Amino acid sequence: MAHYPQELARLISLLRKLPGVGGKTAERFAFQLLNWKEAELGQLSQLLQDLKSHIIPCSDCHCLTDQGRCLFCDPLCRDQTKLCIIASARDAYSIDETGAYKGLYHVLGGLLSPIHGTTLSQLDLEGLLRRIHALKIKEVILALDSTLEGDTTSLFLKEQIQHLGLPVSRLAFGIPMGSSLDFVDGGTLARALTGRQNF
Ligand SMILES: [Zn+2]
Repeated sequence: MAHYPQELARLISLLRKLPGVGGKTAERFAFQLLNWKEAELGQLSQLLQDLKSHIIPCSDCHCLTDQGRCLFCDPLCRDQTKLCIIASARDAYSIDETGAYKGLYHVLGGLLSPIHGTTLSQLDLEGLLRRIHALKIKEVILALDSTLEGDTTSLFLKEQIQHLGLPVSRLAFGIPMGSSLDFVDGGTLARALTGRQNF
């Protein structure tokens, strides 16, 4: 990296942690920030400061919220008989944008991965099964990535949920193998949801 003043160099190296941001882009972002007004920088830094305390996981589904229970759990506008299991809170937004699903979500918070050391105990399976039981869910949809970790987790969850006597479906293929939901466009995701298949 060029010999930037220390603080600028630190900013650049932090920005590089963002997905898809390489060295050149991080430098461009940092120089752009230097052009921002003091007040805008203040707003940004305040937001970042409060991010983790103001935006918290919903106590029921673990989607994101700034109050106790999230919008995705609203009993007035969500079908309380369907539960869609997702790996990360972000997936709820991608799926909701398709308009093809109006049920509830459950964020696992990860996928089983021996390589990354994600084990069963980190996924709170008990919490999930308790919730399925308490809500009297009629259909469970697995919307996990089409990767080795996603497939392993889906297979495992299927067995656990079928013990409860519930139908389990999975996003239809059309989601390219090896892809994360993050990178699937809305149209493909909507087709994968409406064409979901028993699993
Ligand atoms: Zn919720």
